[in-house]
Amino acid sequence: LEAVRRDFLSNAAHELRTPVTSISGYAETLLGGSVDAETSHEFLSTIHRNAGRIAALVADLLVLDSLEGRAEVVGTRAPVALAEVVGDAARTARGVTPDARIDVDVADGLSVLATREGLDHIVQNLIDNAVKYGNNTQVTVSAERVAERVRLAVADRGPGIPDGQEDRIFERFYRLDAGRSRDRGGSGLGLAIVKSQIEAIGGRVWVEHAAPGARFVVELDAA
Ligand code: ADP
Repeated sequence: LEAVRRDFLSNAAHELRTPVTSISGYAETLLGGSVDAETSHEFLSTIHRNAGRIAALVADLLVLDSLEGRAEVVGTRAPVALAEVVGDAARTARGVTPDARIDVDVADGLSVLATREGLDHIVQNLIDNAVKYGNNTQVTVSAERVAERVRLAVADRGPGIPDGQEDRIFERFYRLDAGRSRDRGGSGLGLAIVKSQIEAIGGRVWVEHAAPGARFVVELDAA
C-alpha cells in the first residue's frame, strides 16, 4: 500500500511539473519584456492551456480522493433514466467537437440504479474518449437489458486498444501514447476514475475489441 501511495504521489507530481515549468518559463520571458505582440499572444495561450491542464488534473485528483473507500455510495443509488444521461453527454461532446459523429441508440424506458452525478461523469468520459481517441470515427452508444442488469456500450471505429493493454488502461496515470494523450488534455486518470465510480455503484466495466475500434461496456443494476 505504501509503495502504491508513493507511486501515485510521484506520478501526480510528475504530471504537474511539466505544465508548471512551462508556465513559469513563458511568464519569465514575458516579464523580461522585448517580446512582440504576436509572440506574447502565443506565449499567453500556452500559459492558458497549461493552466487548464493543471486545473483538469486537480479536478481529477479531487474526484479520486472523494471516491476513496466510498463503497457506501451503493446505498444512495436511485433509478436514473439512461437515455437522458446519454443524450446530455452526447450534446456536450458535440458542443466541444462539432464534427463528432455520435449515434445514440438507447431505449426510453431503460433505467439503472446509480447516482445521477456519477453516471453523468461516467458516460461523458467514455463518449469524450471515443471522440478523442477514436480519431473522428463514428461513435455508437447503445444499451440493452441483460436479466437484472443493463449493459451500456460506447464504441468507436478508431485504432482500439492493443492486445494485452485491456486492463492496464484502467490504471491510474496509464496512457497508451503519453505524448499524444497529453496533447489532448488527458492525465491518464480518466478511466481509473470511471472504473472507481462504476464499482462504487455496484457495476463493472471492461473493454472489447470492435474490429475496428474499441467498445467500452458498462454493466449496472437495472432499476
Ligand atoms: P486520459 O485521462 O489521459 O484521457 P484515460 O484514463 O481516459 O486517459 O485513458 C487511458 C488511455 O487509454 C488513453 O491514454 C488512451 O491511450 C487509451 N484510450 C482510452 N479510450 C480509448 C479509445 N476509445 N480508443 C483508443 N484508446 C483509448
